[in-house]
Amino acid sequence: MERKCPDCGAPKIPETFNRSSRRDGWQTYCKRCHLRRTNEARRRWNTAHPDEYKRRRRHRRLPSLHGLTAEQYEQMLAIQGGVCGMCGCRPEESRYGVLAIDHDNDCCPGPVSCGSCTRGLLCSNCNGGIALLRHDPSLMFKAADWVMRRGAEAAGLTVEAKRA
Ligand SMILES: [Zn+2]
Ligand SMILES: [Zn+2]
Ligand SMILES: [Zn+2]
Repeated sequence: MERKCPDCGAPKIPETFNRSSRRDGWQTYCKRCHLRRTNEARRRWNTAHPDEYKRRRRHRRLPSLHGLTAEQYEQMLAIQGGVCGMCGCRPEESRYGVLAIDHDNDCCPGPVSCGSCTRGLLCSNCNGGIALLRHDPSLMFKAADWVMRRGAEAAGLTVEAKRA
């Protein structure tokens, strides 16, 4: 039975080794080498799965940027039926595969918020869309009018006039 770390040769004593359920009662590698190997394995996995790594990292960090816990985020997601609050698409269709946390920019300008002005979860398109329309409801109504052509008519424009 090997009585030392195969990587660095440290002896199997409580100061350098963690106990385990293995037959000899010790982990295979010493504490330092075990940690290093765990980190190396994680790095290898992250490099091999860049998209999933980004998704997980984003998922982990997102709630704390908005004063929420991961549990509160999951609760909101469940209340919304697991989809974007506006267009109803699934998180996989959003950037990073994660729904963004939409908040009131009047309360908290910028990408980080206090947690009490959260409106809900939106996909990256819907979240970006309302940001591009400056979070201004009257502008959004005008945008709807515009795409349904009523805005152009109200402004006195006609298709002919635009062609001329
Ligand atoms: Zn070692
Ligand atoms: Zn959406
Ligand atoms: Zn706020």
